[in-house]
Amino acid sequence: MTQKTDKVKNLEELFVDTLKDIYDAEQQIVKAMPKMIEQAQANELKQGFKDHLEVTNQQIVRLNKIFEELKMPAKGKRCKGMEGILKEGDEAMQETLERGVKDAALIAAAQKVEHYEIASYGTARTYAQMLGHQNIAKMLDQTAKEEGKADKQLTTLAESHINARAKA
Ligand code: FE
Ligand code: ZN
Ligand code: FE
Repeated sequence: MTQKTDKVKNLEELFVDTLKDIYDAEQQIVKAMPKMIEQAQANELKQGFKDHLEVTNQQIVRLNKIFEELKMPAKGKRCKGMEGILKEGDEAMQETLERGVKDAALIAAAQKVEHYEIASYGTARTYAQMLGHQNIAKMLDQTAKEEGKADKQLTTLAESHINARAKA
């Protein structure tokens, strides 16, 4: 048995690991979103994705500030969770041809992305509080709230008409 030498030793390291994961996840999202914008059929969904892409870019800026405050280089670590979620979403997108169904599949994929982010930012915020990084905790809380808002907007869109159209 080979021993892994890069084991996480304490909460501070686990915290930094969580930040690196989400930093990479956000970058994967920024790369994936133009295709989602292009594929969205309903205008409200297209616009919603465009808006969240802008918000996402600001969240990356915020993460850069957090790394700066920690006096660490902003560096991601491949987020396999987001990789899988985006891959699944891409497959679902390609498998659906009908307009309404495609939008329903896109919303489902986007909500999985948001939920991953809500979980990660919530965890990171709690670690930051426990470690006494109050300002960083505030920034992480702001992002967590933005992801929550995006998730709720997607639910509203799905309930209002996109899923109804997919059924028709
Ligand atoms: Fe985000
Ligand atoms: Zn991850
Ligand atoms: Fe998001």
